[in-house]
Amino acid sequence: MYDYEQLLEKAYNELPDKVKEHRRFEIPQISAIIQGKVTVVHNLGEVAKLINRPPEMLVKYLFRELGTAGSLEGQMLIMKGQFRQQQIQEKFEAFLAQYVLCPECGRPDTRIVKEDRFTILRCEACGSRHPLGAIRASPAQKRSTKPEVGEEITVEITHTGKRGDGVARMGDYIIYVSGAREGQKVRAKITGVQGTRIFATSVEVLR
Ligand SMILES: [Zn+2]
Repeated sequence: MYDYEQLLEKAYNELPDKVKEHRRFEIPQISAIIQGKVTVVHNLGEVAKLINRPPEMLVKYLFRELGTAGSLEGQMLIMKGQFRQQQIQEKFEAFLAQYVLCPECGRPDTRIVKEDRFTILRCEACGSRHPLGAIRASPAQKRSTKPEVGEEITVEITHTGKRGDGVARMGDYIIYVSGAREGQKVRAKITGVQGTRIFATSVEVLR
């Protein structure tokens, strides 16, 4: 017997991939609560499933980023120490930007595959391939503050997006710069921020 939710899921899983691609991706929300000396993430398993990554991979990342340890019990992750939900959510979104979202088109329909000795993030939606090592944020590029609309940033355009926008990466963020071309270094003004995606307009070409 299936319950309603399971039926919906079954129906969704049986949709052809082309249909799935056009579903708008919403960043899953971590649900966590501090209980005494531990923090319980109630929906770790569910969230991992939504982004199509093994729960163990996400758990390992969270442990490393939060400097803690713990155990996975069914859907639940129990971590030593007290962590605010928002804090865990931010780490989760950084994980998304690094290991899930396509740097080219921003879709989550990606797979991690091994090719020779390289680990590649392959996008099922647009077909682009990116070595995982190359898209990992370098410490120098890490930002501690959230980018804001109106702010000006300097970025190097490393890709061309589907709609012809220049695409750059800054720490955990993917930046779509209209009016910029691959290979350019530009000063750009932020026009929108959506999770870890930033939309900007080129103001000045520096190189
Ligand atoms: Zn893509």
